[in-house]
Amino acid sequence: MMTGEQYVESLRKLKTVVYAFGERLDNFVDHPLIRPHINAAAATYDMAHDPEFEDLVAATSHLTGEKINRFTHIHHSTDDLIKKVKMLRAISQRTGSCYQRCVGFDGINALYSVTYEIDQKYGTTYHARMKDYVLYLQKTDKMVAGSMTDPKGDRSLPPGKQADPDMYVHIIEKNDRGIVIRGAKAHQTGVVNSHEMLIMPTIALDEADKDYAVACAIPVDAPGVLHIFGRQTNDTRKFDEMDQGNACYGAVGGEALSVLEDVFVPWERVFMCGEYDFAGMLVERFASYHRQNYGGCKGGVSDIVIGATTAMAEMNGVAKASHIRDKVAEMIHLAETIYCGSLACSSQGRALPCGSYFVDPLLANVTKLNVTRNIYEISRLSHDIAGGLLATMPSEQDLKHPEIGKYVEKYSKGITSVPVIDRLRMVRLLENMTGGTALVESMHGAGSPQAQRVMILRQGNLPHKVKMAKRLANLDKSGNER
Ligand code: SF4
Ligand code: FE
Repeated sequence: MMTGEQYVESLRKLKTVVYAFGERLDNFVDHPLIRPHINAAAATYDMAHDPEFEDLVAATSHLTGEKINRFTHIHHSTDDLIKKVKMLRAISQRTGSCYQRCVGFDGINALYSVTYEIDQKYGTTYHARMKDYVLYLQKTDKMVAGSMTDPKGDRSLPPGKQADPDMYVHIIEKNDRGIVIRGAKAHQTGVVNSHEMLIMPTIALDEADKDYAVACAIPVDAPGVLHIFGRQTNDTRKFDEMDQGNACYGAVGGEALSVLEDVFVPWERVFMCGEYDFAGMLVERFASYHRQNYGGCKGGVSDIVIGATTAMAEMNGVAKASHIRDKVAEMIHLAETIYCGSLACSSQGRALPCGSYFVDPLLANVTKLNVTRNIYEISRLSHDIAGGLLATMPSEQDLKHPEIGKYVEKYSKGITSVPVIDRLRMVRLLENMTGGTALVESMHGAGSPQAQRVMILRQGNLPHKVKMAKRLANLDKSGNER
C-alpha cells in the first residue's frame, strides 16, 4: 500500500496532459487549482496506514490474501459493504471534501461481476482479464478514475443517431493487438490526479449501437488522452489562503473533461467489446454502488457543516437559543437519515453469481435521492444560523490591507472572547461547503435525481404493491380484480 506521499510522488512520474484556464500545465501536481484535490485523494492512502482507521481503509485481497487498500478491493460480504460506508464517512470527516477515489472503486466492482456474467452467456474471457487488472491495481495501489459519463449531445437521440458520432465513446478500430477508441468522458472526478481511467458505457444500448458497448482500462497519460480541468465556483480564490475556506482539501473533487482521441487499448485491458445487451446491467450496478456511497460521504461532510454551524452560533453568541438548538437537531437528523440509507442498502446486500457482493439497488437509489434533498436542507439551515456575513464578508486582502484592514477587523467581531480571524475562517469554511459547486455535486454526482427515480420505479415492484392492496380491499382471493 502506498502512503499519501508516495502517491503524490507517483503522479509526478506520469506524463498526464492537463489544461486549465487555456494553458497546458507543466506541473499539475503543485498547481494551486489541483493540489487540494490531490491532498484529499492522498488521505485515502494515508488513512490505510493509520491504526485508528486501518480496519476500515485497508482490506484483505480475496485473490492473494494480502493486505490492500480497500479502494482496490472487491466486496465479498455485507460486512465489506458496510465497512465501505463507514470508511467514506471517516475520510469525509477528515477532508470535508471529495477524495474522488470511490468512482473507480465502484467501477472495478461493477465490472468484476458483469464480466463474469458476459462470459457465462458468450463464452468470452473478460472476467479473467478483469481479475488480472484487479490484481495489478491491488499490487500497485493505483488510483482509478471511473469514467462513465459521456457528453451525450442531443439527449433525445441514441449514440449512433447523434450528428457527431463521438458524443459517446466508441470503438473505431479492432485489430489483433487491441482496439482503438474515440470520444470523451465528461465531469471526470479526480481524473487528472489518477493513474488509470476505467472506461464504461453510460446508458443501456441496443444492437445498432454495438460499437458504443465498450469497457476498458487505459493509463490517464496514454497517447491520445488529454484532460481539460473544469472551473468551480470561486476557483480563483485558490490563489488566496483564507478565502478558500478549506485550503488543504478544496470544496469538491476536481472535475475534468477527458478527451480520447483515437486511443489504443490492448486486448488484455478490454472488458466489454460489443456485448451491448450488458451495457444496461453495468450502468445499473455501477450506479447502485456509487449511490450507496452518498450517505457515508455526504454524512461525513455534513458532520463538518454541522460543527461549523454550531461554532458560528457560539461565535455569534446565540448557541443557547432554543430555535438554534432545534435547527441543529434537525441538521443532525437529516445527516443521520442519509447515513441510515447507506447502511441499510449495504446490510441488505446479496451475493452475485461471481461471488462478489452487491447492494440493495432500490435502497441505494433512495439513499442518493434523499441526499439531493437533505444536503440542500442542511445547507439552508446552516445559512439561517450563520447569518448574512456568509455572503458579504470582505476578502483576505481587505483584512490585511494597511488602511482598511482595521475596519474589517473591528466590524467583523462577534463575542469578545473569539478572535475575529477565527470567526472569519469559520465563515469561509461554511461558505465553501454549502454553496456553489459543493451543492451541485450533491444533486448531480452519482447521477441526476431523475436517474434515481427511474431506477426506483423499476425496482419498486409496483404490481406486487397493487396486488397486496387488492387483497386487503377484498377484490378477490388471488388478488386479481373481480
Ligand atoms: Fe467519493 Fe463521490 Fe463522495 Fe467524492 S462525492 S467522496 S467520489 S462518493
Ligand atoms: Fe461524486
